[in-house]
This record gives sequence, C-alpha cells and structure tokens, in this order.
Amino acid sequence: MVNEKFSVEAHAHLVRLVQAWQHAQSAPASHYELKIGAPLPVLLRMKFPAGSLSLHEIQNRCQLILVPTGTGALISVNYCGKKGTAWTPWDLAAQCFFRLITNPKVDKFAGPCARCHKYYVKKRASQKVYCSRTCGNAATAVRRTREKWEREHTEKLLRARRAIQEWRRCKPADPWKDWIERKYPDITKKFLTRAVNAGELSAAESMAREKKLSKTALTAGSLARA
Ligand SMILES: [Zn+2]
Repeated sequence: MVNEKFSVEAHAHLVRLVQAWQHAQSAPASHYELKIGAPLPVLLRMKFPAGSLSLHEIQNRCQLILVPTGTGALISVNYCGKKGTAWTPWDLAAQCFFRLITNPKVDKFAGPCARCHKYYVKKRASQKVYCSRTCGNAATAVRRTREKWEREHTEKLLRARRAIQEWRRCKPADPWKDWIERKYPDITKKFLTRAVNAGELSAAESMAREKKLSKTALTAGSLARA
C-alpha cells in the first residue's frame, strides 16, 4: 500500500505544508488583521497548498479515541483519513502535519538548516539558522576561508595594479604579463588574465602600450629585413 513513490510524494506534500505554515508565521499583516488590530492564529493565516486538504477537512478526518487508563481514560485524537477511502499521499502528509501542529513543543520546530537543509528542534529560542553546533561551526569555517581568500585576492590585485604602474614606468620590452610574472612570481600570467576577464583589473592602458610595443617591434623587424 505505502510504496516508495507514495512516501516520497507524501514527504514532498508535507514539506509544502510546512513551508506554507512557516510562510504564514512571517507574512505581513493582512487588511483584515490591520482592521481588527490583532494577528490571526497562524493556521488561519496559512494558505494551504494546491491539492492539499484544508484545515477543516483535516479536522473532519480526525477521530477521538478514549484510551482507558487507571480508573478513567485519556483522550487521544488521531488523523484517520476519510472513512472507506484509501489513503492518498496528501493524507499521510496531513497526518504528519497534524502531529506537528498539535505537539505542545511546536514552537521549537525550525529549519531547514542553512547548511544541511534538514528541519530540526531548537535547543535555544535564538537558534534560527543552523540545526546544530556542528553545522554552525562548519559554516563559519567556510565563511572564514572565503573571507581570507577574498582578503588575499584583493591584496594581490592591489599589488598587480602597482606592478602594472611599475611596468609602465620602466618601459621594458617585455609584454606586461610576462614582465610582472618574472618580477613577482606569485602574480602569474594566469592570475592577471583571469583578473582582466573578471573586470577586476583594468588593463586597457597596459594593452594599448603592449600593442604599440609589438607594432614597434614589427616595424623594427621590417626595417631589419629591408
Ligand atoms: Zn544542519
């Protein structure tokens, strides 16, 4: 009955329900809410996704069960689906969603985590981005590495610009990229080409001079041949 396709579909529907529910939590106040001067409960603000059961339908498909215990009974409410009808993936999604919204700790539900993309149970109220310290630390490490790379890259571009000015001043016979790479081995021709292509380094003037140089060389060559 519940095959893999069924549960995959149900899972996708559940995610849709959770997204709509989370969206309703942060959506701006509606005209009606502004008029009455108070926010509606989230489930009343929520727009149930297309194809989904409405809150009313979910309620109608729930059943109250008395669970005898001691001298009395406990009340248990369960999502049971539509009587006499086979469950659809939306039923399974509605059952999970019903369990989520009726859980007393529903406000601790959060996610998806910015790193592992899983939903999680918050350990602290402030825990809004990552599911765990592991994910938080890993993301910080990635960010630090990127920041370090950016810092070093900017510094290298600055040195490359200075080197171009130096090349212009010195007026050597070598093309600018070759000259810079020879003088500053870590500023490679590959780095310079990439920086120019990325628009990070304006080589317009350098190029112009280079062209003039090669033209001069050509003229000199032609003269020598002549
Ligand atoms: Zn995570």
